[in-house]
Amino acid sequence: MPSGAAAEGAGSGGFIPETSSDFAAAPDPFQRLWTPHRAVYVTKGQGAHDDDCPFCSAPSKSDEEALIVARGSHAYALLNLFPYNPGHLLVCPYRHVSDYDEATLDETAEIASMTQTAMRVLRQVSSAQGFNIGMNQGAVGGAGIAAHLHQHLVPRYAGDSNFFPIIAETKAMSQLLGDVRTAIAEAWPRD
Ligand SMILES: [Zn+2]
Repeated sequence: MPSGAAAEGAGSGGFIPETSSDFAAAPDPFQRLWTPHRAVYVTKGQGAHDDDCPFCSAPSKSDEEALIVARGSHAYALLNLFPYNPGHLLVCPYRHVSDYDEATLDETAEIASMTQTAMRVLRQVSSAQGFNIGMNQGAVGGAGIAAHLHQHLVPRYAGDSNFFPIIAETKAMSQLLGDVRTAIAEAWPRD
């Protein structure tokens, strides 16, 4: 990317690296475009409501359309349209709050439990061997959609380069994401 200023995780403030060279693992030749701020996938086609918060509008859509893998009472989990790795999930409260310390105990508890469940599911369905977990807080902290709290869960695999490169072709990516979403959603334990 010519400039990572607007990209989530870019710069020294974001804990989630923008390129594989930022990981301790062996680098691969693929450049990842880290653009979750372009999460238009949940607002596309909404016309006048395009400026609505995508994390607020996603739950009103179908799981398939919004790439939601699980819905809880206070929080839900969805796939990032622009994943660093396959299975890159975001766990959000339904409520529109920006900072972690604004979330209620019910919300933080469910975000935590859903993150734990997601780890187990990702180990099961994709043999994830490690994870990067965390939240970028505020625009200066690297958050792409700073207004709505979201926790990243990025599964890691030994030699991540074994996995398909992140490509810009929307149709192909959508199909891949649909397959990933189905696999995770079907493996998610039911209460
Ligand atoms: Zn929101």
